[in-house]
Amino acid sequence: MLVTSRTMCFEASTPCSSAETDESRAKVIYSLAPAMGHNAEGHPECSSRVSAIVSALEKARLTPQFRGSEIVQLKNFRTATVDDIANVHSKSYVSALEKAMEWASVQGVMPIDVFGDTYATATTFNESLAAAGAGLSLVDYVVAASKITKNPPVGFALIRPPGHHAIPKGPMGFCFFGNVAIAARYAQQAHGLKRVFIIDFDVHHGNGTSDAFYDDPDIFFLSTHQDGSFPGTGKFDDLGHGNGKGATLNLPLPEGSGDLAMRSVFDQVIVPSAQRFKPDIILVSAGFDAHVLDPLANFQFGTGTYYMLAMSIKQLAKDLCGGRCVFFLEGGYNLESLSNSVVESFRAFIGEPSAAAEHDDPSFFHDEPSLKVKQAIERIKHLHSL
Ligand SMILES: [Zn+2]
Repeated sequence: MLVTSRTMCFEASTPCSSAETDESRAKVIYSLAPAMGHNAEGHPECSSRVSAIVSALEKARLTPQFRGSEIVQLKNFRTATVDDIANVHSKSYVSALEKAMEWASVQGVMPIDVFGDTYATATTFNESLAAAGAGLSLVDYVVAASKITKNPPVGFALIRPPGHHAIPKGPMGFCFFGNVAIAARYAQQAHGLKRVFIIDFDVHHGNGTSDAFYDDPDIFFLSTHQDGSFPGTGKFDDLGHGNGKGATLNLPLPEGSGDLAMRSVFDQVIVPSAQRFKPDIILVSAGFDAHVLDPLANFQFGTGTYYMLAMSIKQLAKDLCGGRCVFFLEGGYNLESLSNSVVESFRAFIGEPSAAAEHDDPSFFHDEPSLKVKQAIERIKHLHSL
């Protein structure tokens, strides 16, 4: 379904007297699906995550209330349908998860995957549909906006549960439905955007997204992740299969990789890969667990690293695909670094200077393993002929 500019004005929270004027002014559009019922005491993937981000955005005065039409909240987004989900996941999994809600409503919180680290509650199914839908509606909005301006807003789905570990046949790693993967298929089917470039900078490998498109030449999946971290997949040599060979790029980086590493990776790997692929839209699995303060991994990104990524990816989308770009929240488990990093991303989207220096205390950081990073970059450039 295409969304007209008239619909966009209706759906967005800001007043809209002239579609063209307001659309060209909007620099970021976000949707919120915080899944407040999907929560387990003491679990890192908890219901405070999206609320913490919203509070930080308000404190930084980066909401529509303070920024007028520059920052737009998409309030009336749709829920994903079973058919949307079934573009990526098996229908038997979708119906089994729905059925599991009966048990969850009796048990309260129940473990639901083979590793035992993913839980479900009575609301998980519906809230996962809402999260996926919040991403799909942003795709609609951004695509429609790109038809009336060269500078459409960047979309940011502030949603949970996250999605990039969910495999076609089941939940995994705190994830239920592959929000990014579902949006990629949707962009193709609903908008005719054939070539989708997915950047996954979560500290963990996006194994679910990778599985969904491993033999697909039209969806390029690029993941940077900490070598050896959960779930242990995403090796250099995993390049895709069949017609999809070459459309998967995995860059495992050594423990301790940080801002310097990611800047080099962006310039030497992400940019040339995207330029060669020539995408119609860029989707981003935006995980914030590579931050130095995150408890689940051992990378050293600062909030400034996320500012750089947001700004650079926005520019890449502008250069290559009419600015069509949507970010999806994945990991990030230290509430403070998570919310500060999303705030920095918003600053980058609206073109404000970074305030990362306020948060990135130099004492948090130590030397990066620059030689190992250089070797990893050289190896991936060789494998992909970059
Ligand atoms: Zn992660």
